[in-house]
Amino acid sequence: DERARRSEAMGRGDTSELRRASRGAYLVMRAKKKVEELGDEIIDEEVMFGGARRTDAEERELKRKKEIYGLVHGSAGEDDGAGGHYYRMPAAYDDAANVDQGKRFSVARQRHDDGGEARGGGKGRAFSEQESWEEQQIRKSQLQFGAKDRGHAGDEYELVFDDAVEFVKATAMSGTEPEDEEDELGDEIDAKAMLQRELQDQRKTLPVYKFRDELLKAIAEHQIIIVVGETGSGKTTQIPQYLHEAGYTANGRRIACTQPRRVAAMSVAARVAQEMGVKLGHEVGYSIRFEDCTSEKTAVKYMTDGMLLREFLGEPDLASYGVVIVDEAHERSVSTDILLGLVKDVARFRPDLKLLISSATLNADKLSDFFDMAPVFKIPGRRYKVDIHYTAAPEADYVDAAVATVLQLHVTQPPGGDILLFLTGQEEIETVEEILRRRTRGLGTRIAELVICPIYANLPTELQAKIFEPAPPGARKVVLATNIAETSLTIDGISYVVDTGFCKVKSYSPRTGAESLLVQPISKASAAQRAGRSGRTGPGKCFRLFTEHSYREDMADETVPEIQRSNLASVVLSLKALGVNDLVGFDFVDPPASEALLRALEDLFALGALNSRGELTKTGRRMAELPLDPMLAKAVVASERYGCSEEVLTVASMLSAGNAVFYRPRDRALLADAARQRFSAGGDHVALLNVYTEWEQSGHSAQWCADHFVQPRTMRRARDVREQLAALMERVEIERRSCSSGDLDAVRKAITAGFFRNTAQRRRDGLYRTIKTWRTVLVHPSSGMARLDPPPRWVVYHELVETSNEYMRQVTEIKPEWQLEVAPHYYQENN
Ligand code: ADP
Ligand code: MG
Repeated sequence: DERARRSEAMGRGDTSELRRASRGAYLVMRAKKKVEELGDEIIDEEVMFGGARRTDAEERELKRKKEIYGLVHGSAGEDDGAGGHYYRMPAAYDDAANVDQGKRFSVARQRHDDGGEARGGGKGRAFSEQESWEEQQIRKSQLQFGAKDRGHAGDEYELVFDDAVEFVKATAMSGTEPEDEEDELGDEIDAKAMLQRELQDQRKTLPVYKFRDELLKAIAEHQIIIVVGETGSGKTTQIPQYLHEAGYTANGRRIACTQPRRVAAMSVAARVAQEMGVKLGHEVGYSIRFEDCTSEKTAVKYMTDGMLLREFLGEPDLASYGVVIVDEAHERSVSTDILLGLVKDVARFRPDLKLLISSATLNADKLSDFFDMAPVFKIPGRRYKVDIHYTAAPEADYVDAAVATVLQLHVTQPPGGDILLFLTGQEEIETVEEILRRRTRGLGTRIAELVICPIYANLPTELQAKIFEPAPPGARKVVLATNIAETSLTIDGISYVVDTGFCKVKSYSPRTGAESLLVQPISKASAAQRAGRSGRTGPGKCFRLFTEHSYREDMADETVPEIQRSNLASVVLSLKALGVNDLVGFDFVDPPASEALLRALEDLFALGALNSRGELTKTGRRMAELPLDPMLAKAVVASERYGCSEEVLTVASMLSAGNAVFYRPRDRALLADAARQRFSAGGDHVALLNVYTEWEQSGHSAQWCADHFVQPRTMRRARDVREQLAALMERVEIERRSCSSGDLDAVRKAITAGFFRNTAQRRRDGLYRTIKTWRTVLVHPSSGMARLDPPPRWVVYHELVETSNEYMRQVTEIKPEWQLEVAPHYYQENN
């Protein structure tokens, strides 16, 4: 029938056919859309501009609009003052002429509901300027969308999907289809055994399973092997188990499996523990920065590549490991690249050490070359066909386009296939999550449930597992992910991938020394990986929110290895601590620019970690032991001299806790700001210290957190981090001392000792300039210093972030003469 035909057409990405089929619907919709636009205008005039500035003529015009709007929505002309009344959508509306389109339309119009709710007369919520501003922003981008469509004046069908993104199907990635495997389940086994049995059966369906023995044989015969296989073939979860089962851990040595991302390390370890039927942290564990979940009996240890790098410091021959698996080598993180050089060296003098380098992509030849022609073991892929669709025209706002596409897929596609949406970072994911919730809320049974699962690096552990849980029957899951889901995590049941084509990448300019996270187009290789995620359990579809032209012209073939676009100070410090003095001679897969190496050496010299001959100093050795960025590590080491190590330890822990300290509920934004401001006198670092101290004094009270708009989770993490840093400080013999609570200058001096190169000075024009690079920067609006009057003349900042402007984040006022005091060697040599 008509509707089936439409959704089938939609499924094929063929919107032109759909449009043809919907000519009649379009005409009805256009009239309705006009009315809806009136609704928007009413909201604009009422909510945004208020009543005060209205003239009589404007008042009459508004009344007329309300009447027309009211006629359609069954509330003719009456202004009940309850707020939101006009923007609600009676259920009857949907039963109008065309149900199918009505669904689409109602999704697009969900915001009107919210417009009403935000004003909230009936619900007793206070009107918030912030909220209506956000509504307005959302609507504005919505309108941009419409505006784009209206631009194609020649095509009279353009408005059918008010809010839809137009795709062109271009290519299909070929796939290889597997034969089906039967699984039989016994009847009389209890649930736990049944789950275990199911897990064991699942293990056997993974592509790597068929090659278990062959793989073990190859490993027995060769010291170093490159393993290549599609994402999801079982490399990460299975191979360590095979090795464990085959006795590689019987001699008391461990298997290490490194991951570039900590979420992956945690989640994979949890899965493997489950498969092996053991408690996480016993036979199977993980180790990430500030979190060690292993024990004496841990045989299989998943860890971040950075953690194994740190372990080299204490154990340069990796004696406790029998096998090292450098997983996700194609990711080419800085730590992975350094590890590759180090393990290659260790393998030479430890013939008993087995080395596996595993990669999801086929550029394994480079790795094989690097490891002196090591054999490449290919696990034949299993992937179904994936249809790839591009947008017909460039999208002005990919976030907006992404939301529209997800909703479009959800409404038009048959139930039973989940959606994976790639975004660039936590903030964006949270925004999209909120918009999706808002727009599906209140639709009730008119559309199937959409289960929204975010996943990003800082997502609290207890929420991470959710992405793997299947959606309840009849519902659809949409996973909102960063490129963590590109290859590190395999989520089953994904049939649709929506790819914004962007990711956040670290970029570093060795010339200016500035490192920033920038949103940039992904590479073709990444795009292929992302698309492939949809074809694991059945034929898939990938919707790229960019044009085919842009794919061909704007995207690089491969992603540039991180080591070629990072600040290397931290890595160079680790290498120096490992005794690698000749950095240029180090065995890099792809060497970094020598400029970047020099810059790193200079930074470390400035911090006093290296002497003028480039040798590690005592300060440098202590810094290398702390798992902190060198500048922060220096601040901690220096705190001893100013007698405030307890305080600086707290600041460092708060800065390392990862997540935002404060939250800002929309309906109490001003209260939250005031609460936050109270901590801020004396700078953002001191504010962090104050928050932590008060929280301690409250007895770690949750109520205290609620009263002060502080995230309890961040605080608990800060406490964990603090404990571990404290232990490390003891190891490097930094005396634990507390300054009298009034002496905040001591704390500020210690911070300056680490961050003096991040000094900015306020010029007569009121703007700050960084002294290092003479760039114009602003205080980040989230900083307590942003509202200080008069603004301080000299400040140090923790980091620069680049959005519309360049902002300093975590800012503290200093005195200029401290610079000479904290780093005399630097200023003497340089002047
Ligand atoms: P690869 O490393 O080759 O990409 P994995 O070993 O990570 O593959 O994944 C193999 C399978 O294990 C996946 O298809 C998925 O079903 C399952 N799996 C992996 N991690 C988890 C997890 N945390 N929760 C549930 N299932 C998982
Ligand atoms: Mg893997």
